[in-house]
Amino acid sequence: MDLKQTLETSLQKHICEASDEELYHACLDLVSSMAQKLPAPEGDKKLYYISAEFLIGRQLGKNLINLGIYDEMADLLKANGKDITKVEAVENEPSLGNGGLGRLAACFLDSIASLDLPGDGVGLNYHFGLFKQSFVDKKQNETPDAWLTDKSILHDTGVHFTVSLAGRDYTSHMYDVDVIGEGGKVNKLHLFDLDTIDPSIIKDGINFDKTDIAHNLTLFLYPDDSDDNGRLLRIYQQYFMVSNAAQLILKEEKEKGHDLRELDRHVAIQINDTHPSMVIPELIRLLIKEGLTFREAADIVTNTCAYTNHTILAEALEKWPVDFLNKVVPQLMPIIGGLDYAVVAAFHDNENLNIIDHDKRVHMARMDMHFSHSVNGVAALHTEILKHQELKPFYDVYPEKFNNKTNGITFRRWIMHCNPALSHLIDETIGTGWHKNPDELQKLGEHYDDQPLLDQMDAIKHDNKVRAAAFIKETEGVDINPDSVFDVQVKRMHEYKRQQMNALFVIWKYLQIKDGQKPVRPITVIFGAKAAPAYIMAKDIIHMILCLQDLINNDPEVSPYLKVIMIQNYNISKAEIIIPSAEISEQISLASKEASGTSNMKFMLNGALTLGTMDGANVEIADLVGKDNIYIFGRSSDDVINLYNTNGYHSIDFYNRSQSIRRCVDFITSDEMLKRGDARLLNDVRDNLMNKDWFMTLLDLESYCAVKETMLWDYENREWWKRKALVNISKAGFFSSDRTIREYNRDIWHLK
Ligand SMILES: *Cc1c(COP(=O)(O)O)cnc(C)c1O
Repeated sequence: MDLKQTLETSLQKHICEASDEELYHACLDLVSSMAQKLPAPEGDKKLYYISAEFLIGRQLGKNLINLGIYDEMADLLKANGKDITKVEAVENEPSLGNGGLGRLAACFLDSIASLDLPGDGVGLNYHFGLFKQSFVDKKQNETPDAWLTDKSILHDTGVHFTVSLAGRDYTSHMYDVDVIGEGGKVNKLHLFDLDTIDPSIIKDGINFDKTDIAHNLTLFLYPDDSDDNGRLLRIYQQYFMVSNAAQLILKEEKEKGHDLRELDRHVAIQINDTHPSMVIPELIRLLIKEGLTFREAADIVTNTCAYTNHTILAEALEKWPVDFLNKVVPQLMPIIGGLDYAVVAAFHDNENLNIIDHDKRVHMARMDMHFSHSVNGVAALHTEILKHQELKPFYDVYPEKFNNKTNGITFRRWIMHCNPALSHLIDETIGTGWHKNPDELQKLGEHYDDQPLLDQMDAIKHDNKVRAAAFIKETEGVDINPDSVFDVQVKRMHEYKRQQMNALFVIWKYLQIKDGQKPVRPITVIFGAKAAPAYIMAKDIIHMILCLQDLINNDPEVSPYLKVIMIQNYNISKAEIIIPSAEISEQISLASKEASGTSNMKFMLNGALTLGTMDGANVEIADLVGKDNIYIFGRSSDDVINLYNTNGYHSIDFYNRSQSIRRCVDFITSDEMLKRGDARLLNDVRDNLMNKDWFMTLLDLESYCAVKETMLWDYENREWWKRKALVNISKAGFFSSDRTIREYNRDIWHLK
């Protein structure tokens, strides 16, 4: 294909005369028409990956890469005075996810298609996504993220189903996004919607009438569930998603002429966290309508479905009151009741195993574990904790169902697209075999002492820092020094992830500088994080960080040595600029709390060194790179679990015992801070740290600060550091989502 001619025919003008917007639309058309001509992966069995979130990121660049024409397109545009990254930036980032879980789903779709496996995603088409974050008066402000445009990545399929919600019928509408794999096979992401959605019901910010289902159903991802109407709305959304999924699956099976009694031979369903759990009773209900008995339907569905657990945080394991389900999905309650009855009978009314507890709440994860054939955790440590702590009663009765699938990331986005210079340098050094076989990155092991390579890598890191600094200047108006150390923590805001601990280090460093102890090299601490709109403490921590940013960046005595910047509305596009620039990767969750983490993998692949606890996939990173190439601190997960079990942690003791902890914590409500922020919020953060600190910040604070100081010291041994960065890159192959998907297919799906 002659790219230039195709583009110019579509543009009706020369490339050099077209705007970035026109070029984006021409590229969008080009990609769509290429995708239309490409086949779907073939096979007797097809996967349906059902997920409330798909954080897919901008699609154009990724699609051009997988079609094998990214470089050609970039060169063509450049030859005509255009910059492909500006053309890509025209695309609104789809706002269909929240954090790691949604990004994982996106990486998986990319790997499934690239491995030539038949597998579609199923989710919802949220018109305004999660929300768009901005900072106003140093506080998080939430507005609708209007990412949908007239012409977009969505294709109208004309497919409709009828879904009954609270006894009323609604007609769904299915839109498809092409999932183009490397190698030219195309799967689909099916996004369901209602035609009656009405944005005009949104009042100030992201508030709206939560009872107006016809108008609100797919407005937002994770609508506020701090009241009953919000919780009901989540059930409406979940059932709408899975009823459409179940109807789509049965429709496709019938079209293929398959016997529904052999559903498990032709279909695999992956339930991504508990949000899609109702697909189990819904499929059973539909199969009974097709003439199967309850027993037959339940057995087939069990053999078809598999469940992924993403968290051990109790609040995330959904439990819906029977009353709520009776209201929203009365048609499902007889089925759920029947499943519960079967469990009660089989396990003698064991309260730990029952689906419906004595408080009349339906435990979604328990339904998944009884009526799926596979239950997996997302990193080795996480799966062990599930087996021996959190889900022990289930492991005791179903040991054969439990398995681990350590998360991964698609290298096609997380290095080839976001860090082309590094990607090309690796190609020149070890060839391109690692694209298909990421383990070949280990060939870099022969180059640990290759000085010219180490210097080129370092130069690329510096270029990426310059690029990120320019981006931060443009979007946030803050100057940062590309010659400072880039210390980065970007992820959802949550107390267990302990951004507050990083902030306390910032205070520690600020106080040191004020005391005349200047760092040998300036440090730039970069944060990016959205807080759930109803999570007050998370928002208070954002406020604290923004106050520190204001204080430190405007203090002429301190700012030459230390800067703090919290970027607004952290998302995939921003991650793709920030992560390649990072040198220190902050992965500091309280051990046992982060199921896996995936940004830890992205940072490693881009040559940052991890500063982390032995939690989630950090444990596997540490095993791979060895202790000299990672900075580990803090208590072990066993210690932490023990402290919880014995009520053995009292933060106030740590506050009282250590003067340096006290000084840092007290600084949160110092005059300097109170001058800049809201006393009530800052007091709440300090008070929480002193008297509650559920995620044990003060327990690990001193060891965190000490190891971070060591790390900053080691950074000055430049040759050493460069080598460590290369070791990290060379060991990152294991974290390719292609490896993860091969394991899901081998152990759970058996697609081919
Ligand atoms: C990878 C990613 C995440 C997950 O980050 P963790 O540190 O693993 O929690 C969240 N948000 C975005 C935009 C990401 O790209």
